[in-house]
Amino acid sequence: MNQYIGKAVSRCLGFLKYPKTSLLRILRNYSKDFKDKVLSALVTAAWAAAFELPEIHKQEHLVGGVQRIFTRGSENIMDPNALAKNKTSPLQEQDAQFWYDLAHEEIAKRLKQPQPDQRKAKNVIMFLGDGMSLSTVTAARILQGQLKGNTGEEDALTFEKFPYAGLSKTYCTNAQVPDSACTATAYLCGVKTSIVALGITAAVNFNNCSGSEDPAHQVSSIAAWAQAAGKASGIVTTTALTHASPSGAYAHTTNRFFESDTDILTYGEGKSHPDSCTDIATQLITQAPGKNFDVMLGGGMSKFLPKSIQDPFGNAGIRSDGINLLAKWQALHPDGALAYNRDQLLGVDTSRLGKLIGLFNSGIMDFHKQADAVLKPTLAEMTQKAIEMVSKNDEGYFLFVEGGLIDYGNHFNQPQFALDEVHEMSKAVQTALDMTNPEETLIVVTADHAHPLSISGYPGRGSDILGLNPNGDDLNGVKYATLNYAVGMEQYLDEHGQRIDLTEHIKNPDFTYPSYIKCEQGVHAGDDVGIFATGPQSHLFTGVMQQSTIPHLMAYAACIGNGPKLLHKFPLGTGRSDMSSIIEEIINIFVKNRTSPLQERDAQFWYNLSHEEMATRLKQPQPDQRKAKNVIMFLGDGMSLTTIAAARILQGQLKGNPGEEDALTFEKFPYTGLSKTYCTNAQVPDSACTATAYLCGVKTNIIALGINGGVEYNNCSGSEDPANHVSSIAAWAQAAGKSSGIVTTTTLTHASPSGAYAHTTSRFFESDTDILTYGAGKSHPDSCTDIATQLITQAPGKHFDVMLGGGMGKFLPKHIQDPFGKAGERSDGVNLLSKWQALHPDGALAYNRAQLLSVNASRLGKLIGLFDSGLMDLHKQADAALTPTLEEMTQKAIEMVSKNDKGYFLFVEGGNIDSANHANMPQLALDEVHEMAKAVQKALDMTNPEETLIVVTSDHAHPLSISGYPGRGSDILGLNPNGADLNGVKYATLNYAVGMEQYLDAQGQRIDLTEQIKRPDFVFPSYIKGYPGVHSGDDVGIFATGPQSHLFTGVMQQSTIPHLMAYASCIGNGPKLCDRFNK
Ligand SMILES: [Zn+2]
Ligand SMILES: [Zn+2]
Repeated sequence: MNQYIGKAVSRCLGFLKYPKTSLLRILRNYSKDFKDKVLSALVTAAWAAAFELPEIHKQEHLVGGVQRIFTRGSENIMDPNALAKNKTSPLQEQDAQFWYDLAHEEIAKRLKQPQPDQRKAKNVIMFLGDGMSLSTVTAARILQGQLKGNTGEEDALTFEKFPYAGLSKTYCTNAQVPDSACTATAYLCGVKTSIVALGITAAVNFNNCSGSEDPAHQVSSIAAWAQAAGKASGIVTTTALTHASPSGAYAHTTNRFFESDTDILTYGEGKSHPDSCTDIATQLITQAPGKNFDVMLGGGMSKFLPKSIQDPFGNAGIRSDGINLLAKWQALHPDGALAYNRDQLLGVDTSRLGKLIGLFNSGIMDFHKQADAVLKPTLAEMTQKAIEMVSKNDEGYFLFVEGGLIDYGNHFNQPQFALDEVHEMSKAVQTALDMTNPEETLIVVTADHAHPLSISGYPGRGSDILGLNPNGDDLNGVKYATLNYAVGMEQYLDEHGQRIDLTEHIKNPDFTYPSYIKCEQGVHAGDDVGIFATGPQSHLFTGVMQQSTIPHLMAYAACIGNGPKLLHKFPLGTGRSDMSSIIEEIINIFVKNRTSPLQERDAQFWYNLSHEEMATRLKQPQPDQRKAKNVIMFLGDGMSLTTIAAARILQGQLKGNPGEEDALTFEKFPYTGLSKTYCTNAQVPDSACTATAYLCGVKTNIIALGINGGVEYNNCSGSEDPANHVSSIAAWAQAAGKSSGIVTTTTLTHASPSGAYAHTTSRFFESDTDILTYGAGKSHPDSCTDIATQLITQAPGKHFDVMLGGGMGKFLPKHIQDPFGKAGERSDGVNLLSKWQALHPDGALAYNRAQLLSVNASRLGKLIGLFDSGLMDLHKQADAALTPTLEEMTQKAIEMVSKNDKGYFLFVEGGNIDSANHANMPQLALDEVHEMAKAVQKALDMTNPEETLIVVTSDHAHPLSISGYPGRGSDILGLNPNGADLNGVKYATLNYAVGMEQYLDAQGQRIDLTEQIKRPDFVFPSYIKGYPGVHSGDDVGIFATGPQSHLFTGVMQQSTIPHLMAYASCIGNGPKLCDRFNK
């Protein structure tokens, strides 16, 4: 039998690109039992990493391209004209006031939060979006807006409006990238465990029945804690009641696939047997806490019925033990009722019912888009009935609601389904909001793990999020989709490995989106997921936290649970059974080559860690009346959340640890938020319009700086008109008598620091020569002031107390040679540095590390440091004797601005994180993140936390993914030990959507990278050949500590950030903390 399943699975794998209905057609002549096994194996195969063929074509001269990025001088990595064209901004957004109003609204919302919040959460509802990566959330938000006929980027899902947001680290004890079982154990039981395990500690080996049945190894869930406190409880899911996520609320097993006794025989590797392992369905019906659930709604009826019984959907049960668990459940609960279609569910009078079980499919439920709307309830409808059921209990309740098919949509590389499932969950969240009292109901929305979905290139504002990127094509001129996956089923290459035109394909409602590495299905990713919270104690759900902290926070809020206690008892024993070779292979991928650190196998380890993380949050003053005398803003250019997760792991690995458990300096900050980065005409932004957002508080056009979105590209008179200028927080600080300064590893005239002082339609106008070069004949230095000139001769730039970075060439005329042996770039003959010296006789210029370190800040009026002709070198490539580190520059800058008794605003940029991501060289990008983390530590060491607000954020993301299922501690810069394509060729854990190297042979097959990846200058692989890598449109993180840092949480517009900083430090013209207390 099993070898037939294997054959059928292999046969179906080739057809997986087709929707599920076609699969069923292929299998139509087989028995239901057989069909289910095959489908189940296919779904399992989805998470596996046994791959077949690669894709994408091959081109030359790539490394040369990489080198160009790092040559000194001003090599631009983007074509400004290509970036600016074919894009429009919505009219109302062209006015700065629009953004001020929006920011004030968002601030008002945060200020409305009770501080301190003494409210207890009588009820807790947890929503789980399975596989709902932050990129999925962003894309779903955009699609939701577009379905309303709007541009989309400005929209917000229900839960994105929640006041608090945090980030959750999803790795499991033996997995860098987790599955839905170990994560369910983390977010429901508060303990991290081994991949595919549920409700047990990592001390139990895979398929060790006696271990999983031993109460000493079992961990209890928040559903059990709620029951112990007399509360009602329940589970709702769009998958099966015995699927991994809901099972986290009640089951204890080493293997999530043991859903029925038959499954134990199928997947037990001959080591597990139903005699000694209790299957999940049996646990749900016969054991606590499952048997006490007041409501259970979802799919998976077959797991509860014997083979001899046919279910209402026309399929036979799959149980071999002959037991009808549903009859058993009815006997245990005479006041309970079973529903199996929508009418029955909607007709339920919950007030007259003791318990309710709803099973709406034999297996998992259908995608909302494909479901029979007459027969199948929606997630919102199930949520409504579930809340009605549990609300009858005066002691309150814990309810778990899963949007489980988001994961399936992503595994099938069909975001059109995944995003729709997010919308369905968003509606269910709205139902919960409508039905509950916000004063007594805590609602937490999160995901279990990410997917390597990226939003790539530079599509204009309002571009169809499910379409081809109108502004993106590969080096052959073939347009690419905005959405891509790292791993998946369709590469869309011709026989030479060249990408084909998808214009027609992408219109197909069943379109499978493109991916780089060919596998049976998409895989999970290792970046952090979001946490969104509202209601009592929701302010605790911010900051970066272990996923396992979440249930402890919920329990804290609801006053349930009693710490690390778990006691369940089951029969012991061992057994054996047959196994399918295919399934074994799949399971091998999950299980082999993985180990858990010893101390993490004990539940106490996780409890302690959670209590520690909670203590940090509870220690925060509430309410916080402290004013921020000083504000330091750190900006990681292109520091996507995936880049942060990878940098964190690498930091830990460089210490000799597995890595996933580590934290960057700023990840320990008490508050986190998420920032929406789109610009007025760009779905995916650049560093200029974003700098205008996070420094001036106004969104504008891509590549524009310090002007509103109403000024057209290359319109000099528009950009010179003060009416179109927007001022930065640096100017606001100066107006309040504070010191100010900028520090960057790029050039002082680069997009990010320029946001603090410049006004121009083009970030590339760094010198007058650049205006001639990039002005497209429309801009001329006579009518446009270049950025370097603005910095030296105009306010607020000319008042900066300190400016440290690269780019000396922009300040010197061509006839002058700089200390680095290069001629200046200016055509106007002006030496801006001597001009600056004349303006500031008490100022000094440094151009190497020794000079900078020897500066006595107390004796100096102003300081300018220019440590390269162009961009500074990357830290790993820089001459350590001559080039200061970002940490050293930060130290000197803080010394300079600290002399002012009124305080300061300081901007510090780790600018080459972006350069290295563009070059597809994470080994350099992550090192630059480490350097910025050190600079943050220096700032923490030098400042008083009672009076200094420190905010760390990023301008935009990069489509870097952490893909597949590498085991815990796998080299984050190496090949994924558990991941290979369908040809058996291993793939790197880190991949980019777009970049220079596809590593394909002449037939478009992926080549083995075992040797190449060891090279320090290795260019990591990408799917779409472009030069260089591109930005991506997913949200970036905000990390804050110090006075008023509790305001920097929730999902916010990037343009809100400077207003919040201004509020905290009582500067600018918006709402101010001081006004609030003075009135
Ligand atoms: Zn999955
Ligand atoms: Zn960039």
